[in-house]
This record gives sequence, structure tokens and C-alpha cells, in this order.
Amino acid sequence: MINPKKIWNSSQLPSLPTVAIKLLELSKNEETEIADVVKAIQTDPAISAKILKASNSSFFGLRSKVTSLDRAVPLLGTTVVTSLALSFSLVDTSMQKGEMVEFYDAYWRQSIVQAATAEILAKKFFPKLQGEFFLMGLLIDLGQLAMLKTIAGDYHLTLKANEQFNEALHKTEMDSFGFDHAEIGGKLMEKWNLPDEVVTSSSVHHKSFEEVQEMEYDSPEMKNMVQAAMISSALGDYFCTNRKGESIELLKVLSSEYYSYSKEELNDLIEEVRNRVDQAAELFSVDVSEIGDPGDMMAEANEQLAFLAMKEHVASTQAEARTELIEQEKNQLESKNNELKQQAFRDPLTKLYNRNFFNESLNNELHRSCREGTSIGIIFTDIDKFKNLNDTYGHQFGDEVLIKVSQLIQDSLRKCDVVARFGGEEFVILVQQPTEKGIAKVAERLRAKIESLELSYEGEKVPVTSSFGAVIAIPKLDETDLGETLIAQADEAMYESKQNGRNRVYTRSLISEKDREIQNMMTQFRFSRWLVGRGVIDIANASQVLLKSNFEYLRLGNLATANGFLTEEQLETIIEKQKTCSERIGEIAVELGYMNIQQLALLLSQQKESPVEFMKTVISMGLILPHEMADLYKAYIEETNSHLGVNLPVSVN
Ligand code: GH3
Ligand code: MG
Ligand code: MG
Repeated sequence: MINPKKIWNSSQLPSLPTVAIKLLELSKNEETEIADVVKAIQTDPAISAKILKASNSSFFGLRSKVTSLDRAVPLLGTTVVTSLALSFSLVDTSMQKGEMVEFYDAYWRQSIVQAATAEILAKKFFPKLQGEFFLMGLLIDLGQLAMLKTIAGDYHLTLKANEQFNEALHKTEMDSFGFDHAEIGGKLMEKWNLPDEVVTSSSVHHKSFEEVQEMEYDSPEMKNMVQAAMISSALGDYFCTNRKGESIELLKVLSSEYYSYSKEELNDLIEEVRNRVDQAAELFSVDVSEIGDPGDMMAEANEQLAFLAMKEHVASTQAEARTELIEQEKNQLESKNNELKQQAFRDPLTKLYNRNFFNESLNNELHRSCREGTSIGIIFTDIDKFKNLNDTYGHQFGDEVLIKVSQLIQDSLRKCDVVARFGGEEFVILVQQPTEKGIAKVAERLRAKIESLELSYEGEKVPVTSSFGAVIAIPKLDETDLGETLIAQADEAMYESKQNGRNRVYTRSLISEKDREIQNMMTQFRFSRWLVGRGVIDIANASQVLLKSNFEYLRLGNLATANGFLTEEQLETIIEKQKTCSERIGEIAVELGYMNIQQLALLLSQQKESPVEFMKTVISMGLILPHEMADLYKAYIEETNSHLGVNLPVSVN
């Protein structure tokens, strides 16, 4: 890093010649007369000669030959003359020979382009300010000149590095020094007492478009000049650096935002600047032959833009690939995790769930059935005389039998039923919401399948059977600890079957008389059953519909009030009473005489199987035509209404 003091204390720091200082002072005084300006210029013969020469150059394009300053100053205007004097003196003191010459040349080349751009913009938008704008354009990079002169060695390295990196110069400066030419230039101009607009324009000309948008200005003139400085600087970069693609993109944004320029208008500006540059270069004796013609520059810019786009594409593809890799690793970890979890939940031999998992599932299911008042069932089974089988055919064969029986049980059940290996040759099944008949049927089906399993050992048929015990219950609202009782009861039922000859099913029901009555009624009221009973749909299709339907669980209280079975007040009374006992809403409603048991059963059946939802699924599966289905639904509701003395709405919204 460089201490900026090195710049400010340097004897090489560019200074303003006396004539320029005097002219600047005069330009600030409103009472200044042309004669004062002429007098001031005349104190410097070299500058006087240059201004006269300039007056006759193609740059100004005056018609008649100008032979004296008295004539030149009023023709050009005092600001223009002041700008020229300032510029000439700076160029004079900073033209260089030797090692740094290429950088000085480059500096002046770009300054000329920037001056020409600013001047042309002023001519279009602020015609009286061409002199000021030209000066601004010429000076915005003054900080570079200051650094070239004061910290030549270090700055030389920075400029070389900048060429290598091909990045914006102010960025390389910032990296090397911690400050850039915009900052240095602004400060130097302040020291020179240049107009505030010019100072600010130089200080901010490398800020981003967004940053400049946020700026607050002392005056509209300042804003106009800053915007012109931004465009001049970008056009300077476009003409004089290798970053043509980037610069043209910036130019498009700036010119469209500031002057609503179209692409064509921007191209016209570029063309115009290119022509003006030659005239200005002549004026200052700067060689601009390195700047190409607009067509070549545009071709180069497009090539760079294509390259940049490609680089961006490659970068984003790489980023995508990285994201994909991370995603893959994440998935691998997840599946590894799942595998570990499975290992913790599964029995390694049969791949069925283990006892821990079963206990957890039972607990969850119990909480649900307590909450919803639904049934829960467990089937226990133990292979008969398994010890004999092991003893006769060997332990390995015994293992194979365990695997085969496990697979058979698993394949014979619904996905939602949980099968686990409870112990050696004992299995347990958690059955979701069974009926008394249903759970007995499931157990019987399994028994029969095991019995007909065809197993053989070295060609010899080996019969295998298993004994079953099943239990079903509808837990009370707070009976979440029913699990142990269920397991014990299922185990006892299974033992009963062993004692009574094995290979049979014993079922126990813990459902109360009243619950059983309600359950039976519920079954009758179900729309699916009603349809099957009428022969409009068969059992297989009805099961399909039930599987495909998306029944939403509704609370009984809500269902009751929605159907007009309970008033809001009645529901409140029930909820109040429920706080002192552990009965369900439906039971309390029946006790209080708000509804009868049939009405409760109807609500429970709807809770389990919404008729409307069922109807929708039937229609969507194309089993029955919509209008026929609507008629059937109407008939079902009317029958139910008259049967129960209720008033369910017939129409469906
Ligand atoms: P019962 O009909 O009364 O159930 O008679 P059983 O022979 O099946 O009952 P018992 O409990 O006397 O014997 C169970 C046998 O199961 C004893 C044990 O060696 C065997 N066993 C337990 N786990 C495994 C296992 O993982 N693989 C094999 N091959 N045998 C097992
Ligand atoms: Mg700059
Ligand atoms: Mg056994």
C-alpha cells in the first residue's frame, strides 16, 4: 500500500500555471470583461500562441481567420478560452519521453476521447456549457496524471498489472494502493479550485450506475455533468481499452437511462465522437491513430461479449454441477441414514419390523383411535411345533421357514397394517380400524395361507401351521395405556388356540355392547354399503373407491352441528360436561337426549366415510355417470332422513 501523502507532498504534483489560475479566478467573477481575459492570456506567450492556433483549427471550424486574441476570446467565449488555457498548460507540462511515454500517450488519448464525448453531449443537451463539459471530460482522469508524475515507479507496476488482468483500472488501483485515480483527481481539482461540478464528476465517475442513482446533488447542473462524465468515461474505456464488450454494455445502460438513447442513437454518438477525436487530437498534438474505426471497435466488443457470455455460461454450468454434486452427497447421506434407521427398526433375519418398532406403532395408533373413537386390533401368531421342525431338519431350514412365513404374512396384508417379529417364531400384526368380523377374517386368511404353504426338505414335504389369537377394542377417550392389555389378550387367545389343537384362530373382543351396537349400525348407514346393497356397484369396486377417496377427518361436534343434529349451545354444554368425564361427545349427546343412538351412528359413519367424497370418487373413476350418481345420492339421503327422522340436505354444493 502507498501512503497518499507521497502524492500530495511530491514536488512532481502537477500544478496550475499562473495564467490558468488567473483565468479560473476571472471566470468566477461575474464582472469580468473580455479585456481582462485577453490580458491574462497575454502574460503567457506560449499559451497565447496556442489559443490563436486553436481558433483557426478545424476543431472550432470558425469561418474567418482569427489573428488576434482580442478577436479570438469573444468568438470562442471566455469559458472555452479558459478551458483551452488550462488544458494546454497541463498537456505541455506532462508530455513525456522515455519509459513512461506509452502511459502518458494512453492517458491523453483517453482524455481527448472523454473531452470530445462530454462536449458533444453538451452540444446536444446543454449547448451553453460546451466549454465546461469539454474541460470536465479532459480532466476526469486527472488523478492518473498525478500518479504518473508523483509515484511513477509504483504506478507503472499497477498499470502493467492492469494490462495483464484486463480489469477496470480503478479496481487495480484500489487493490494496489487502497485509493484510485478518481479520488486523487477529485482532491487535486478541489485544491485547484476548479468548479464544484467538475470536482464531483471526477470523484464519482467510476461509481456504479446504481450508486450514482442514489446520489444527492447540490444542483441540477451538477447532476447533468456527473451523468455526462459517466458516459464520457465509459466511452473513453470503449475507445481506448481492451474492455470493449463490458464498456458498450455500460454505455447502453447509461445512455438509455440518462438520455433515453436507442441503440442506433448510441451508435450515432460513437460515430460523432470518433470524428471529433481526430480534430481535438490535432489541437493538442496527441496521437490518436491507435483508436480504431467504430465498426472495428464494435466487432471487437461483440466478440468480447460473446466470450463473456460463454465464460458466464461455463461458470454457471460449473455451479450447477457443484450443486448437483452436493445434492447427490446429501441424498447418499439420507439413504445411509434411512438404512441405519431401518436397521434399528427391522429384524435382520426376516426383514420384518422388530418389537420396538411395533410398540411405537401400537402406541401411535392407540392415541389416534382414542382421539377418533375408532377400533384397533392385534393379531398374534406362533408357529406350531417349531422346535420339532428345527430338531428334524436343522436350524438353517428353520430359518428359511421363518423367512417364508414372514414374507407370506407381509404380502397378505394391507400396507397400513404393521407386521413385526415379536420373538423367535412369534409374529404380531397391528390391524388398522378393523371390525370384529374383519379381524377374525384376516387371521383366518393368514392361517389358511400358512397351512397351504408348500415347503419341502430334500424332496420331502414339510407341513407348517401356525396358531392365531386376535383381539379388537375401541378404547375410551383416555385409554391410551390399553396396549399392554391388547397384547396380553391376543397372546392369551393364541394360547387358547394352542390348547385347543393348534392351527386355529381365537378372537376376543373388548368392545362394549353399546359400542358394538353403534358399530353395526354405522356399517349399515355407510353410503358404500347402501350402493352395494342396491347392486349399482360391486364390492371390489367399492373397495377401490374407498382406497382412492381422500376422506378428511372431521370432528364429531362439527359434523353434528353442520348436519343440524346439535345446536351450538348443546355442543357447548357437551364440551363443558366432557371436562368432568372421559366420555366422547357422541356418548354425552345421547346421554343428554340431544340425539338418539342411530343418529350418532349415522354421524360416525359419515365421519369415517363422507358420502359426498365417495360420490366424487365414483364419478371421477367413471364407474357411474354423474347425473345417475346424483339421483342415487338423493335417494340415499331421503331414505336416511325418513328412516332416522333427520333432515340432511339433499343437494350437494
Ligand atoms: P408350540 O406349537 O407350542 O409353539 O411349539 P414350538 O416348538 O413352536 O414352541 P417352543 O417355544 O417350544 O419352541 C420355539 C423354537 O423356535 C425354539 C427355538 O429354538 C426356535 N427358534 C427361535 N428363534 C429361532 C430362529 O431365529 N431360527 C430358528 N431356526 N429357530 C428359532
Ligand atoms: Mg477514470
Ligand atoms: Mg411355537
